[in-house]
Amino acid sequence: MKGIMDSLQKHMEMLCGSVGARPTGSAANKAAVDYVAEVLRQSGLAVHRQEFDCMDWQNAGAMLMVGSRSVPAEAAEYSLPCDVEAEFLCVDTGEMLQSAALDGKIAVLHGDLCKEPLMPKNFTFYNPEEHKRIIALLEEKNPAAVITVTPTKEHVIQDGDFHIPCAVVSEELLDVFTNSAGEQAKLTINTERIDSKAHNVIAAYGDKKEKICFSAHIDTKPATPGALDNASGVSILLALAETLSGKEYPFQIEIVLFNGEDYYSTPGEMTFMASLSPDYILAVNVDGIGLKNSDTSVSFYSCAPEMEDRIMQGVGQQGGITRIEPWPMGDHMLFAAGGIPTVAVTAANIFGLMGSVIHSADDNMDQIDMSVLADTVPCLASLIDTIGNWKAEH
Ligand SMILES: [Zn+2]
Repeated sequence: MKGIMDSLQKHMEMLCGSVGARPTGSAANKAAVDYVAEVLRQSGLAVHRQEFDCMDWQNAGAMLMVGSRSVPAEAAEYSLPCDVEAEFLCVDTGEMLQSAALDGKIAVLHGDLCKEPLMPKNFTFYNPEEHKRIIALLEEKNPAAVITVTPTKEHVIQDGDFHIPCAVVSEELLDVFTNSAGEQAKLTINTERIDSKAHNVIAAYGDKKEKICFSAHIDTKPATPGALDNASGVSILLALAETLSGKEYPFQIEIVLFNGEDYYSTPGEMTFMASLSPDYILAVNVDGIGLKNSDTSVSFYSCAPEMEDRIMQGVGQQGGITRIEPWPMGDHMLFAAGGIPTVAVTAANIFGLMGSVIHSADDNMDQIDMSVLADTVPCLASLIDTIGNWKAEH
């Protein structure tokens, strides 16, 4: 157990500390990919890097003046740069947006229009009509820039395919806009979209045709060290890989480190899906694990009830594991939607941290209980044995 703990500590410190934020397409992301590929290779796995196109989004911040007042603002993720001085107009409902004349102005969106992140234009898995309508109206009305005034840290617009520059202002500052209607605003966004490439890392142990896949995503949002999301999941899979050497299984163990779960168009996931193997007997995705004072949860997708029971019996040997209802966001859905029996592993209390800790600078090592990570490694190993036994009987 000491060996696993040391190993997990090393991987976590590398990913969250030395590398830090590792958005898809960035140099830090490449450093993280190099690190995990080398750990997997040294553990005796055959490592393949699956390349795809993306952008390296550079952000040197934003500046906003409303009238003569300087207002803290940040660039929305993936925004184009701009330097505009124009009249601004506050808009808070779909109807108001429908009738607003925004051409050449700065559109300040708040209220109803900012109640949740709008899905990126080309995000096809899930994209509500209401979101598409807001985006289409903005493009049609052609404001010089958009400012979203939001109650949470999550950006409302985060889309590299959206070509109107966007900034984000915190909701406490809404008054600044509503009290100075008719004035000018000056917005500068210092960002750059640079063509780049990135890689999924796919590592195989054994050469059997049938496979069990363990996956986690290696990328982060641009402004977070991503401890829970998802250095912890990656570190667990590296530690698991380090325990495989010398063992024989009736199937191949594949470790997939996706690169793009937190990137607007999930390009790594799309690339992986384009050649999805029909040979998976089980997929296990680990994301958001190791939160302090939280059980670890498992949920099932496209699984036979008998298999679910067997897996619960196996992993339930260990304390601190609870079964939860399926939840539909994340890389486990790629496999589940393909009809592959899938297990999602995450901290049971993670859902309350969305919009606050997750995707922010606060998602750091302080959130992590390393002993939970250490307990999860043998738990995943037991899952391999469970499926081995299950397969022998079927
Ligand atoms: Zn995330």
